[in-house]
Amino acid sequence: MARVINFNPGPSALPLSVLQQMQEELLDYQGTGMSILEHSHRGQPYGEVHTEVKELLRELLTIPASHEILFMTGGATSQFAFVPLNFLHADRSADYIVTGTWSVKAMAEAKIVAEAQCAWEEKQDGKYLRVPVQSELKLDPNAAYCHMTSNNTVAGTQFHYVPDSGSVPLVADMSSDILSRPIDVSKFGLIYAGAQKNLGPSGVTVVIIRKSWIDEAKTEGVPKIFRYKTILEGDSLQNTAPTFPIYAVRNNLRWVKEQGGVSAMEAQNKHKAEALYGCISEIPNFYTCPVEASSRSLMNAVFRLPTEALEKQFVAEASAQGMHGVKGHRSVGGIRISMYNAIGVDKVHTLVKFMREFAKANSRPAANS
Ligand code: PMP
Repeated sequence: MARVINFNPGPSALPLSVLQQMQEELLDYQGTGMSILEHSHRGQPYGEVHTEVKELLRELLTIPASHEILFMTGGATSQFAFVPLNFLHADRSADYIVTGTWSVKAMAEAKIVAEAQCAWEEKQDGKYLRVPVQSELKLDPNAAYCHMTSNNTVAGTQFHYVPDSGSVPLVADMSSDILSRPIDVSKFGLIYAGAQKNLGPSGVTVVIIRKSWIDEAKTEGVPKIFRYKTILEGDSLQNTAPTFPIYAVRNNLRWVKEQGGVSAMEAQNKHKAEALYGCISEIPNFYTCPVEASSRSLMNAVFRLPTEALEKQFVAEASAQGMHGVKGHRSVGGIRISMYNAIGVDKVHTLVKFMREFAKANSRPAANS
């Protein structure tokens, strides 16, 4: 079996042991004579998975009793619409901190529902290269909520603090950095994340929501299935849940717990990012990271090489050496390395070694040497 090093941005690498467990259990789930894929979402075997995944999330992210966990479908993209549908009343406006492609899309959906105001946005040469500091945010104290993207998967930027939105509920798209570091859930009205990076495979979206806020949600003109309240009251089983992705998330969360939990993940993620950004800064004539140092993402590192031709060659040679998914998003170009939890420190060291060798082999000698 030849497994490559998978730096894909999402769907992305899963721990080998998690995949193996699914393979072993696929045909006969725990002696029941059928696959978990074939079990009813209302039966006991799946019911136990459903309960355990919520318990594990609560434990790993220290989710307080004030917040509930929902499993939804439609990806993070559906949450761009669910949030305003539920919380953006016709006479209100919501604040959006726009730090990249995903925030732009989220805000556009809100504008279909009612008013949305940009609390901050900055592009340099058409690119998002940093996140704002608190003092730069133009927040409306009467906003229905304030929306942020905690990690910008395409731009390679990440918030390293939680913005203070005062009494306005803070909503965060944490699709690409949930479980990568401890978070204070109590500061958020709602957190959502598509599962396909740190949580598991695609197909389920995890929503963590402050229960008391649900009581303020709109109902008029909102079909029942699009109300968070319906999902909460149905324990995410109001219709057939995506049982297999949820089961896979459960297995992956067990793995995170075995590794020492979210703090251990954070320590590893810091180590990986230091190794990679360290290599970039050591070879400044060859590698450049356009992202401002204080905004750099620990999950997705983006960088450039001297020419697009060299970037193409880098992608091809990395692939030949078993390292896949390193090509930057088409909207920004360059290279992007996604280092989610399942990417071990050793994998990043292998990449860094390759980067050093590649730079050495392809650097032009200085003009006067
Ligand atoms: N938000 C962020 C930060 C993302 O990285 C992505 C996908 N990569 C999305 C939203 C969209 O997610 P989905 O495809 O699950 O709708």
